[in-house]
Amino acid sequence: MVRLVLYDLIIVGGGPAGLAAAVYARKRLLNTLVLTLDIGGQVLQTEKIDNYPGYLEKSGMGLSAPPLASAPPS
Ligand SMILES: Cc1cc2nc3c(=O)[nH]c(=O)nc-3n(C[C@H](O)[C@H](O)[C@H](O)COP(=O)(O)OP(=O)(O)OC[C@H]3O[C@@H](n4cnc5c(N)ncnc54)[C@H](O)[C@@H]3O)c2cc1C
Repeated sequence: MVRLVLYDLIIVGGGPAGLAAAVYARKRLLNTLVLTLDIGGQVLQTEKIDNYPGYLEKSGMGLSAPPLASAPPS
């Protein structure tokens, strides 16, 4: 059976920009779909993020997890 789903917003990319957009969209209760090849984007390639406000020092993987945890489910 085919189920039709309508989205308010479709975001391409699961890097910092896409994940931040998704979090804000969900806070506004937009039905949001993220299409991505990975979760985290380029920051997954580094062990140390050194210039992100609010974080003294964190790995790219560690930086990517909080946005996911804070996004309410669709
Ligand atoms: C080794 C390394 C270390 C870094 N260190 C720092 C640092 O310390 N501090 C800092 O501020 N910045 C750092 N950066 C830069 C930072 O990673 C980027 O500025 C940031 O990731 C850009 O975010 P973005 O969401 O715009 O794009 P990206 O992170 O590039 O995300 C793009 C997303 O799009 C997805 N995508 C691509 N093509 C498709 C497709 N065809 N279909 C679906 N999805 C697709 C990818 O899977 C990915 O999820 C570093 C980058 C690297 C590589």
